[in-house]
Amino acid sequence: MDTPAQLRSGLLTVVLPAYNEEESVPLAAETIGGLLTQAGIRHELLFVNDGSRDHTWRAIQEAAARRPQVRGVRFSRNFGKEAAIFAGLAQAKGDCCVVLDCDLQHPPEKILEMYRLWQQGYQIVEGVKVSRGQESFLHTLAAKTFYRFLSGATQIDMSRASDFKLLDRRAVDVLVAMREKNAFFRALSAWIGFETAQVEFEVQPRAAGRSEWSLRSLTRYAATNLAAFSTAPLQVVTFLGVLVFLCSLVLGVHSLWQKINGQALEGFTTVILLLLLIGSALMVCLGILGYYIAKIYEEIKDRPRYIVEDQCGGKADER
Ligand code: UDP
Ligand code: MG
Repeated sequence: MDTPAQLRSGLLTVVLPAYNEEESVPLAAETIGGLLTQAGIRHELLFVNDGSRDHTWRAIQEAAARRPQVRGVRFSRNFGKEAAIFAGLAQAKGDCCVVLDCDLQHPPEKILEMYRLWQQGYQIVEGVKVSRGQESFLHTLAAKTFYRFLSGATQIDMSRASDFKLLDRRAVDVLVAMREKNAFFRALSAWIGFETAQVEFEVQPRAAGRSEWSLRSLTRYAATNLAAFSTAPLQVVTFLGVLVFLCSLVLGVHSLWQKINGQALEGFTTVILLLLLIGSALMVCLGILGYYIAKIYEEIKDRPRYIVEDQCGGKADER
């Protein structure tokens, strides 16, 4: 990396997706706003209310009234964290953007470290988890399995990746210009490349409220993002086909041998086994094909990733 003669500086946008975070919003606004003001970094805090069912929007409006740097975007319904992140990036005015969780599980002090690295010329600064914080054993195991698959598919080590990232304006523009609907921020922001630095952090306990992820929504999240990044399951179809073909070759030879020796009547078990085997393999394959076709259908409909219903704040517009 070339060392610039002078450190760059500019407006920093902090993107905060918020879903049912009425208690965390004021806390996050004060903590992060205070921190950045103290450090003398020009900033805006952009809260994206992802169709919360509580008073998150009111909390954002109040925060915007208190701090001129706070802006809010409100979705018409819950579109998910990924959509909220992309909406934030699309609306950001900053020369660089930091994405972090509104529940303060990503330590805000690290933003300063990230910003300094950006000033030195890095385009992307990734927050890397040192520990996963307080999670159940099952959750950790499931997350590990998911990331093992994903790392295989993307050829990028994702085991410690998080959504806590700083992106330069150029990287933001590239991401926002991407047309895929099932955009997976964590993987896409690594996939685009650019000069990258890393900052380690410990996942903190939630500031308030509770996580809204159910097992079902996490499974759906994992499947969608795997499908968005990898066609490996489609290749599993081919692999299964070859495997079943090899099995049937062996069984076929065996049956023929029995027929030649005059023991053919015994073959009923084989027939049933074969039927079951081939039937289930076919069904699995059709299921995988169907899943991808559904994803293609979703993309081709070209619906917007999210719908913005309302906005607030933004008296600090400086660009
Ligand atoms: N979030 C969101 N939309 C959702 C679910 C979550 O914007 O549908 C936000 C949430 O407000 C928080 C961040 O995404 O700021 C991380 O969510 P959470 O803390 O529930 O998940 P975890 O910390 O377990 O990853
Ligand atoms: Mg959290």
